[in-house]
Parts: sequence; structure tokens; C-alpha cells
Amino acid sequence: GAINYSALSSAELNGLYLELQGRFDEYKNRKLSLDMSRGKPCSEQLDLSLGMLDAIGSNDSLKTKDGSDSRNYGGLDGIAEAKELFAKILEVSMNEIIIGGNSSLALMHDTISRAMVHGLYSSKAPWGKLPVVKFLCPSPGYDRHFAICELFGIEMIPVEMLPDGPNMDQVERFVREDAGVRGIWCVPKYSNPDGITYSDEVVDRLASMETKAEDFTIFWDDAYTVHHLTDNPDRLKNMLAACKAAGNPDRVLIFSSTSKISFSGSGISVMAGSENNLNYFRKQLAVQSIGPDKINQLRHVRFFKDTDHIKAHMEKHAAIIKPKFDTVFSILEAGLSGRQIAEWNKPNGGYFISLNTLDGCAREVVSMASEAGVTLTKAGATFPYGKDPRNRNIRIAPTFPTPAELKTAIEILCLCVQLVSIRKLLADKG
Ligand code: PMP
Repeated sequence: GAINYSALSSAELNGLYLELQGRFDEYKNRKLSLDMSRGKPCSEQLDLSLGMLDAIGSNDSLKTKDGSDSRNYGGLDGIAEAKELFAKILEVSMNEIIIGGNSSLALMHDTISRAMVHGLYSSKAPWGKLPVVKFLCPSPGYDRHFAICELFGIEMIPVEMLPDGPNMDQVERFVREDAGVRGIWCVPKYSNPDGITYSDEVVDRLASMETKAEDFTIFWDDAYTVHHLTDNPDRLKNMLAACKAAGNPDRVLIFSSTSKISFSGSGISVMAGSENNLNYFRKQLAVQSIGPDKINQLRHVRFFKDTDHIKAHMEKHAAIIKPKFDTVFSILEAGLSGRQIAEWNKPNGGYFISLNTLDGCAREVVSMASEAGVTLTKAGATFPYGKDPRNRNIRIAPTFPTPAELKTAIEILCLCVQLVSIRKLLADKG
């Protein structure tokens, strides 16, 4: 059985340290270069969508269902068949969805940018004219959401993540008491990085809570909505329906994309919300563009056809990446379990495993791993301003490396967690 490190004497810890250090040095001498920093699909996953490149040939009709020519200008908010498909996935109506370009992050960025300059549909004033704009940031969370806030000078307030979503007592208090709080970032399904899916109760409390700001908006980034890793997937309650039921139909903006369904760089993105919200954005979009890339939308619809085909396609993704998640779990289990030096989640979907070390160890672990050639997401990146208050969270992105690379990288990570933990336990003993 595994030994609980905190029960060992200083002499035992020192002995163990030397043994582990020897193993670490062997890895270091191998001059490895393993990049685990971002949640990117591997090439086998991207190969699954190669058929999309043949879904439209030069002999095929490029007419959309309503008879318009996808090669030409027009169709500002997306072709009908793409709206239909993604409306089904997000459980919204055809009028409640806009199809965007290749990146949902760009949609989120542009939405914040417009809110700053023009305000949102429910705003009394542009956010840029307000004395202060604050966002609630359930953390650990997605670093690129936080980067958008930093870019626009939006003050970030970290909110604790619980096993069923953000700590709603904290959220409700902030939005009820502080008119400066204008929004919240949520990755409600298979969250980045914790892999948590929000409970129905959390969804309902977000939809119905009392807010001091008239235009408080939930940025609902449903990036991993069909990205299951098990046959018994998590279920997320429909947020737009919950907002409508609570009498706050304009409170939520939903984002998603096919970045981890088809091609990460050449997918399509979507934004969903109330008709009032979307009509407000449609007017602004009409100034920005004469129409999106409808050929790519048509390619996606002809290749994916319907939700059943998407489900089958996602099962092929899972067949490739589930073994990688399992590799990580079994190495973490063997190296770290029972020692009381780390904890990690086992998500039912998404792209990440979130590892918590003992308090104060994450930064050292990540830097030690990089000495052995393993690049991890920067410690702290999963918190606003890059500041993890307990300096303990490490995001593991297992999809991109080959199985062999992954195995080595996680073995090195485990050694680093063990070594840094022993140093901390020895220091604590004084
Ligand atoms: N949201 C979340 C939660 C993500 O993890 C990612 C990808 N890492 C994105 C958005 C980016 O999506 P897109 O490629 O559509 O910009």
C-alpha cells in the first residue's frame, strides 16, 4: 500500500527524496521535450473530420436550403440548416441562435468589447462609461476568459468552485450587493479545468437570483456540451429556459463551437440567447460584416447531418482520448494516491484533469517539470490575474501528446509532485 507522507519521519522523507531524485535525474538526462500546456486535439482526432473536406466538391450544389448561394455575400447570422443543427444541440429555437466565425472566444471577446463601447441590450449605459465593471470568475477557470477581462480593464472577483458549480452563496451576495458586478464567466459542462457540470439547483439560482445591475449577464461558455468520455454523460439544465422561467430571459448569452468536434482552427462558433439580445447583436453584426463563411457552415452541416451523427462522431473522439485520460488516472493513482499530497478529479467529459497539490507547491512543481522538458500550463493560469491563492492547482491537458509521451510526462509530473511535497513536509517539520 501507499505510504502517507505526513506520517514519515524526517530521516525517512530524506531517504525517499534521494531515491526519487535519482529517478528524476534519469528523466532529466533524456533531454525530453513534451508540451502539455494547451487542450488541443491530437492529429488522430482531427483526422476524424477529414471527410468534411470532401463534403462539398466542385460538382456539388453550393445552394443552401433556402435557395441562396453560399459562395456569395449575405446570410449574416448563419445559414438556416446550421442554425437548425446547433439550435437542437443547445436546445434553443432557430431565432435564438447566431452562427459566427471559427472561434467562440472571438464572439465572447467581441461581445465584451461591444458592451464596453455600446452597452448590452439591457444596459442603461455602455460599460466603458461606468466607474467600474467587475466580473465574477468561478475559479479555477478558463484562463482566456480572464485574459479578456484583463484586456478591457474589467475587475475580476474569484468565486470558489464547488463540486456542483460556483459557490452560489458567494455569487448571490456579490450580485445583490454590488452594482459594479456586471457579469459572470461560466463553463457549465465539463468545466475547464475541473470537469464539473453545474447542478440544476445552481442553474436555477443563477437564472433567478436578484441582481443590482440591470444588465448583469451570464457568459455561459458551453464549449464542451457534447464532449462526453463515458456512456453515462452529465446532463446540464437548459439555462435559457431557466432564465425565461425565472422572468429574466435576457440574462444569459450562450457560446459554443465545433473547435473540439471538427477542426480547432476551422470550425464554426455559435452564440445563443433571447431574441431581444440577438436582434440587438444582429444590428451591430450587420455593420461589422456583409456575411460569414457560409461554405464552411454548409460543409459542417453536410458532414455532420444531425445530432445522431454528431453523437457518433463524438464517440470516435472519446475512443481516442478516453485511454489517454485513463493513462493519466492510473499513473496519478500509482504515484500519488494514499500519500495525502495531491487530489484530482475524474471528469465524465471535456478536455482536462485538474490536479491540486499541497498548498504552496504548484508553481515549484510546474517549474521542476519544465527542467525535465515537460511544459505544463503555467501554475496560477486557472485563476484571475494568474494568482492561485493556495498555489496548488495544475491543469493537465491529456489529449494532444501521443500515449507514450503522455505516460512519460505524467510520470515526471508525479515525481515532481512527490519531490516538492517532501521538501514542503521537511520544511514544515523545521
Ligand atoms: N471556451 C472554453 C471553455 C475552452 O476550453 C476553449 C478552448 N480551449 C474555448 C472556449 C475556445 O473555443 P474556440 O476555439 O471556439 O474559440
